[in-house]
Amino acid sequence: MARVLVTGGAGYIGSHTMVELLAAGHEVVCLDNFCNSSPEAVERVQAITGRPVRLFTGDVRDRSLLDALFRAAPVDSVIHYAALKAVGESVARPLAYYENNLAGTLTLLQAMDAAQVRRIVFSSSATVYGAPQRLPIAEDAPLAPFNPYGHSKAMVEQVLRDWCAAAVAAGRPAAAVALRYFNPVGAHPSGRIGEDPAGTPSNLFPFITQVAVGRRAELAVFGNDWPTEDGTGVRDYLHVVDLARGHVRALDWLVAHGGFVAINLGTGRGISVLQMVQAFERATGVRVPYRVVARRPGDIAACWADPALAQRLLGWQATHTLEQMCDSGWRWQQANPDGYRSQAARPGR
Ligand code: NAD
Ligand code: UDP
Repeated sequence: MARVLVTGGAGYIGSHTMVELLAAGHEVVCLDNFCNSSPEAVERVQAITGRPVRLFTGDVRDRSLLDALFRAAPVDSVIHYAALKAVGESVARPLAYYENNLAGTLTLLQAMDAAQVRRIVFSSSATVYGAPQRLPIAEDAPLAPFNPYGHSKAMVEQVLRDWCAAAVAAGRPAAAVALRYFNPVGAHPSGRIGEDPAGTPSNLFPFITQVAVGRRAELAVFGNDWPTEDGTGVRDYLHVVDLARGHVRALDWLVAHGGFVAINLGTGRGISVLQMVQAFERATGVRVPYRVVARRPGDIAACWADPALAQRLLGWQATHTLEQMCDSGWRWQQANPDGYRSQAARPGR
């Protein structure tokens, strides 16, 4: 049994990970400033699992808060999600991204050092690869991010590599796993927690579910002239519950190993935009009207993972189907048409 601090635990992936951690018998402490999430998510995690989460409301950049947290709620490992994640916004507001994602991680590591907590799982991203030279993408592919968000993730990976090396050299074993996620979608099968983007979703899957539920008229498909099978962009979509379980496996790896490792979490399978629309319509019976528009600036044609290292090191592989991704995401969207905002006010949910 581990005692785990989950930063950004109220967010989309963090909330699903807290469920899996609690289900596996671990104790969970959550730190979130709710800049992109709701305390309702933490309530629902506790309702789903019937187990408590110790919640600290605050910012990962607040060193004195972190020191107080480590004193009041001693943990042996950290899963670090807290970050800003909108690629387009990162181009417009790079300093906010480096400040939150990079400086926030430095503050967290300094507080971890002081508290002698030297195990961390970090949310990296397939964005660190930029436009891939070869598919599927293995971890030894060159890192070539092309926006401030991707750079912030690659920089934190380097920080973690150096932090581990220094700690190991000083005889204070430290271990870090950077998990490079491909495209997490779907929701917990209960439909009680899920992705709740603020404003217009920039990602495909929540856009599809919002069209299906009637919040938006149609999906804009960003280009059908890509060099892919049907001309639309191809990505490696994986179920958020699989992703969450990958973190539980990574925690086990940390206990038994030292040093830094970066590991892809994906299915190894590429799905086009139109294939996703069709899969969603098939799984839910709901039509998703769409219109093809111009390509989105900064997009790449195709991207999918070589997930072999995750299988070899963590014994992890994705098990959920595309149908389960669509079905669970739709259940969440239907039950919570306005995300946590409307539902938090309704009794009995
Ligand atoms: P999310 O926005 O739902 O969750 C992030 C959480 O961190 C939110 O609850 C937010 O309130 C919190 N947070 C942000 N800055 C904070 C700060 N300074 N202090 C305390 N809390 C803070 O995002 P998500 O989709 O769950 O992503 C989680 C992590 O995974 C992020 O690091 C993201 O970059 C990474 N990631 C996400 C995806 C994706 O497609 N969702 C893909 C690759 C990597
Ligand atoms: N996409 C789209 N319409 C949207 C959002 C996304 O056609 O409203 C396409 C996008 O061009 C890409 C795929 O869907 O080919 C996945 O995009 P997303 O932003 O979800 O993931 P990312 O590009 O960051 O991997």
